[in-house]
Amino acid sequence: MQAQRPPLLEVKRNFELKTTLVKASSRPPLSGSRLKRGPDQMKEALEPAKKRTRGLGAVTKIDTSRSKGPLLSSLSQPQGPTAAQKGPKKTGPRGCTAVGSVLKNQKLAPTAPAQKPVRKRPGKRPDWDLKGQLCDLTEELKCYREKTQKLDQENQGLQEQLKEAQEQAAALGTERNTLEGELASVRTQAEQCQQKLEALCARVLELEEWLGTKENLIQELQKEQLELQEERKALATRLEEQERRLQASEAALLSNESEVVCLRQKTAAQVTLLAEQGDRLHGLEMERRRLHNQLQELKGNIRVFCRVRPVLAGEPTPSPGFLLFPHGPAGPSDPPTRLSLSRSDDRRSTLTRAPAPTTRHDFSFDRVFPPGSKQEEVFEEISMLVQSALDGYPVCIFAYGQTGSGKTFTMEGRPGGDPQLEGLIPRAMRHLFSVAQEMSGQGWTYSFVASYVEIYNETVRDLLATGTRKGQGECEIRRARPGSEELTVTNARYVPVSCEREVEALLHLAHQNRAVARTAQNERSSRSHSVFQLQISGEHAARGLQCVAPLNLVDLAGSERLDPGLTLGPGERDRLRETQSINSSLSTLGLVIMALSNKESHVPYRNSKLTYLLQNSLGGSAKMLMFVNISPLEENVSESLNSLRFASKVNQCVIGTAQANKK
Ligand code: ADP
Ligand code: MG
Repeated sequence: MQAQRPPLLEVKRNFELKTTLVKASSRPPLSGSRLKRGPDQMKEALEPAKKRTRGLGAVTKIDTSRSKGPLLSSLSQPQGPTAAQKGPKKTGPRGCTAVGSVLKNQKLAPTAPAQKPVRKRPGKRPDWDLKGQLCDLTEELKCYREKTQKLDQENQGLQEQLKEAQEQAAALGTERNTLEGELASVRTQAEQCQQKLEALCARVLELEEWLGTKENLIQELQKEQLELQEERKALATRLEEQERRLQASEAALLSNESEVVCLRQKTAAQVTLLAEQGDRLHGLEMERRRLHNQLQELKGNIRVFCRVRPVLAGEPTPSPGFLLFPHGPAGPSDPPTRLSLSRSDDRRSTLTRAPAPTTRHDFSFDRVFPPGSKQEEVFEEISMLVQSALDGYPVCIFAYGQTGSGKTFTMEGRPGGDPQLEGLIPRAMRHLFSVAQEMSGQGWTYSFVASYVEIYNETVRDLLATGTRKGQGECEIRRARPGSEELTVTNARYVPVSCEREVEALLHLAHQNRAVARTAQNERSSRSHSVFQLQISGEHAARGLQCVAPLNLVDLAGSERLDPGLTLGPGERDRLRETQSINSSLSTLGLVIMALSNKESHVPYRNSKLTYLLQNSLGGSAKMLMFVNISPLEENVSESLNSLRFASKVNQCVIGTAQANKK
């Protein structure tokens, strides 16, 4: 911007020059064309010359437009005293001297009274007065002679004047030529000036435009400058504020630093304390596991719970006293462990024709759940076992009983989303996930992998199969790796789970798969064992501890026997085969438990797919719980007795000290 200032100054100078030139041109123009037009114009053209010859005054007002005669006559006319006549003679140029001489001559030769050439005759003389007439004529001649003399003088004077005027004219012509030359050069100068002026005007316009642009720019820049100033002010305010805050923060930081030092010392002390506490806690946790296991062992590694389902709507009410639940020694608050079933012996009454005697059958189990027991109560009792699974002990929970006794209700609950009716599987899963979460605080990390299969007629089928895997080749139970004790089911899905929702989805899928099978084969779900397996893996990385254990939740096939009185049609033959298969696998389960209890060298796991699959969850290191589900109906009394007897046998078994699968 600074660099552009000089052009502005230059413009100003040029502009002044232009103004001067314009002023100069405002004088009467001396165009050659005008001069050529006539003497009038010549007079105008001579104006500058007149100005140069100040002092001539009126003398310079010579009317050159007139012809020689009138010029002389006008000159000859007395004009009275003029400024030129009064002023000094040397003021004018050549022309002035000539004019002066002319005027002098005029004075010397005043105009004669031309109006009176002849003297008035004194009255007409009589013709006879010749003398008088001669006298008159002589007088008249004298007058004419005088007049002629005067005229001659006058003529002489005029000729002198003419001569002077001619000289003057010649001088004026010379002057005129000089002036025309001057005029031409002035005109050339004027043209050049005009061109310069035009160029300057254009330049001025251009500069004015440029100036306008620059002024706009300046305005914009000024506006921007104002805005920037405002912004600068705001920023300065903010800066001040920030500085204030910074100072405050620095002060706070200083105090915090000292506090941090203090806290660090405290933290170091607490870290040491925490490490000690952690060690103590770990020791306590290990102690808790040991004691928990001891408690479970005291309760028995094989436990049997009896659950009697309620009478359902539409079912006949059993006679009073058919099923009794005597409370324990501690009174009604003591949870029942005994069950008494009365059965009238119809055969004896038929033989003796006496009123049918009733036989009481008393059973004692680890716990008995009467018909009104809630799912929650049932789960409370087994939650300890779930804890054992987390601690690394294999756990196996069975539901045994005839079809319709409540096994599936106990294991899975009733579908429909009512949380009160949720069975053991979803509750156990929720408990596992929540305990695993708590244990993560102590450094334990748990992972869970679920599988769900059914064993029907000694064939294994995956209940979690989806899409194309459904109905694919038969599943086989195999060792996970050669030489490994771990078993796996080929073609079955093993799904990692980490929350209840995932487990819910799996149970729903299994339910759907069973429903498909049910339509294909009549009530197959009751005729097959469903095995829900959850592989629990826990790791304490800091202490290099690992615990792996399976949790098995088994909904066994209906334990009812086939009516021996039934005639065997083609359908019944299938049913017989089914029943034989079920009975065989259930009795194998009993035999395996017996063999384990009796510490026999051979345990017949391989006699059924069920025991083969569950072999790692039965025996020495495992904990087993069997629910014996009982129908409350009198018509099912025979099957109920069979179930209760089987369960009692199992209950009498004691399997050796369980050992946690710790590595
Ligand atoms: P199972 O699996 O032994 O064949 P279910 O579990 O299917 O028997 O039970 C048969 C019927 O009895 C079902 O309608 C079930 O809802 C009902 N039921 C079983 N146990 C109970 C119980 N404790 N409370 C209420 N209803 C039950
Ligand atoms: Mg069932």
